[in-house]
Amino acid sequence: MTVLSGKCHCGHVQISVRGEPLRIGICHCIDCRQESGSAFTFYAVWSAKHFERQGETAEFHGQHFCPHCGSRLFSVDDREAEIKLGILSEAPTHFVPSYELWIKRREPWLQPIKGAEQYEEDRE
Ligand SMILES: [Zn+2]
Ligand SMILES: [Zn+2]
Repeated sequence: MTVLSGKCHCGHVQISVRGEPLRIGICHCIDCRQESGSAFTFYAVWSAKHFERQGETAEFHGQHFCPHCGSRLFSVDDREAEIKLGILSEAPTHFVPSYELWIKRREPWLQPIKGAEQYEEDRE
């Protein structure tokens, strides 16, 4: 199984994921904008059992980040781990989003991703 690794900007937190993700998305919602400081988040979801982490994180509303450098990293529960793909060492990644959320908050200079399902808000 393919293993991909990633880390925060300072290297204190390291993660790895095994195999292909369950889904890959982009979200333009206000929470993602404010949390990331950018126009959208690019993330993928793996089964929680295919996710490993090292190094202590800080957490706000379930979103883990590095307490030293502030990099936004992941959220995880018993079932799934959602990883912000910008932390992977593979850049660019080979991942293409299959859906976009909160397109009503999308910057007007961004085009819809070809073939990706488009949702005005969250997925139903
Ligand atoms: Zn860090
Ligand atoms: Zn969002």
